[in-house]
Amino acid sequence: MASKVLDDFLKQNLEDLKSRGLYNVIDPLESPNGPIIKIAGKELINLSSNNYLGLATDERLKEAAHQAIEKFGVGAGAVRTINGTLEIHIELEKKLAEFKHTEAAIAYQSGFNCNMAAISAVMDKNDAILSDELNHASIIDGCRLSGAKIIRFKHSDMDDLRAKAKEATESGQYNKVMVITDGVFSMDGDIAKLPEIVEIAEEFGLITYVDDAHGSGVLGKGAGTVKHFGLSDKIDFQIGTLSKAIGVVGGYVAGKKELIDWLKVRSRPFLFSTSLTPGDVAASIKAIEILINSTELNNRLWENGNYLKKKLKSLGFDIGNSETPITPVIIGDEVKTQEFSKKLYEAGVYAKSIVFPTVPRGTGRIRNMPTAAHSKEMLDQALTIYEKIGKEMGILS
Ligand code: PMP
Repeated sequence: MASKVLDDFLKQNLEDLKSRGLYNVIDPLESPNGPIIKIAGKELINLSSNNYLGLATDERLKEAAHQAIEKFGVGAGAVRTINGTLEIHIELEKKLAEFKHTEAAIAYQSGFNCNMAAISAVMDKNDAILSDELNHASIIDGCRLSGAKIIRFKHSDMDDLRAKAKEATESGQYNKVMVITDGVFSMDGDIAKLPEIVEIAEEFGLITYVDDAHGSGVLGKGAGTVKHFGLSDKIDFQIGTLSKAIGVVGGYVAGKKELIDWLKVRSRPFLFSTSLTPGDVAASIKAIEILINSTELNNRLWENGNYLKKKLKSLGFDIGNSETPITPVIIGDEVKTQEFSKKLYEAGVYAKSIVFPTVPRGTGRIRNMPTAAHSKEMLDQALTIYEKIGKEMGILS
């Protein structure tokens, strides 16, 4: 018999979420997640995917995946340390190290579990972590899992970070102190102040950890935020995902050989969860080769991002202070933001609203993610719809 305690808990909490408009309704796609998607028979211009370079549907990646499936099958069959390491897993890790300009790299099944794995393999209850208050959920969970003392610093506030680094290191309470930041913050598109963070880390002897999920493939001509600032030899942990610009799925840490050796013996998802599938691995290798050898897709992404931003701004929208192609359109009021997104959908644009608690109250926004795969015509069409709804709702004069 089902548990009444569980039934009551679920009923109460689901109803509560629904009544507050916080229950996620999921719209399944009837098409690939490209620049145009199909939902419930309706074609929409897609401004909500992390497929920054359009590689999720690239023929070269599909072909590489097909070949790997023919050769190795669809599953790796075991965890990495039993016999789930295929030769292509090793090839992927070599390519990732080349891509990130580090000695070595280790692949995980997702960016999320990579953060859970990497932080807790190195930090423990005798340590402290200085974490930007806007860091991604997987970083927060990885920090919690480690048992280390979590000290949040104000978003990209270097005075606050310095003061907290000083206090933590001078207290003598902790064996190790780490500073963790996203490379690019996905809600606003701003870039972490890595040169200052490295300076503070050097002054106080901090371990440095950058999750570049949204910077890889985007900044540094594709190589990421750390390369963008020329700091490849100054960051201990370079985290990335294979699910955004790379277009597939998976996560990785790139760094010094000893660090990667340690993660291979101590990080739990590497030891206890089956490795990436052959198709994922081969497609990811192909994507990284494309990124190493050409900046064509990266250039197109920036062209599209700059175009969309310039046009939205000249229409009169508040697009915040993004430094990357991520383009928020800040509406403010939560209800209005959700209404705007709904109207966009009805008119043929898929662009999700992001409201409290994901972003601070009163800063509701539509987050637009232009990609290299969008044509100018698609962007122009979306802009026409934006202008019409902006006027209708009194957001534009
Ligand atoms: N880190 C950051 C900064 C992210 O934005 C995301 C994805 N939303 C992740 C990690 C998780 O990556 P994945 O989707 O590969 O699990």
